Amino acid sequence: MRPTIHAANWKMNMTLPEGSSFIHDFKEKLQNSSLEGKKVIVIPPFIHLDQLCKATEDSSIEIGAQNCHQANEGAYTGEISAAMIRSTGARYVIIGHSERRQYFEEGGEVLAQKIDMALHYGLTPIYCCGESLKQRENNESENVIKDQIKGELFHLSKDELKQLIIAYEPVWAIGTGETATPDQAQDMHASIRQYIKKQYDEEVAEQLPILYGGSVKPNNAETLISQQDVDGGLVGGASLNPDNFYQIVEAG
Ligand code: PEP
Repeated sequence: MRPTIHAANWKMNMTLPEGSSFIHDFKEKLQNSSLEGKKVIVIPPFIHLDQLCKATEDSSIEIGAQNCHQANEGAYTGEISAAMIRSTGARYVIIGHSERRQYFEEGGEVLAQKIDMALHYGLTPIYCCGESLKQRENNESENVIKDQIKGELFHLSKDELKQLIIAYEPVWAIGTGETATPDQAQDMHASIRQYIKKQYDEEVAEQLPILYGGSVKPNNAETLISQQDVDGGLVGGASLNPDNFYQIVEAG
């Protein structure tokens, strides 16, 4: 019922020529693949959005941004609005990535506003939540995730929530080579779905894509993404190489 979604988060990597060359190579690989029931989203740095949207027009690859500002427009030097992102042709935006939470102190109210702004401009938020290693060791993972979701998403109406993609990304697994076990991922995804069901209803919970992120690689993608409540991957490091990302898309 839910599509499998593979999203490539390039973070602050790839020059524009490198990004264009990735898209060229990746499109060639997709020619031999049906992608039936799968979505592929590439999420480059902001300044590549316009060009990569044009380069992917004739393919099934979709493009997203890594962040947006919470204001409509105005005197926020260096920031990028949801309207600007939408005007490039991009359709998705990551909100609440742990690197934004950690290095830019984003959370709570600001993330709730960013979600609202993204939805207002017709972007699909890819909302990230996750616990730190210390929180996992203290058995706080589930409560941490619930607090994040409650504070940042539960102001949304059912129709608004239906437009989201959630990504569960344990912070201890991002860029570390450590991956949640398939059971750990499945347990947390099922718990998130249950929490959404309790607050909204079964319909919205069952149709909500929940991606796993945290050191997804070609050799672990299949077992992770075959879990019942894992609907795809948000991939960082392994998405910088078209061969690796293609293998993940094929496997999951
Ligand atoms: C990410 O950036 O969201 C991510 C999961 O990174 P990595 O795959 O490198 O752990």
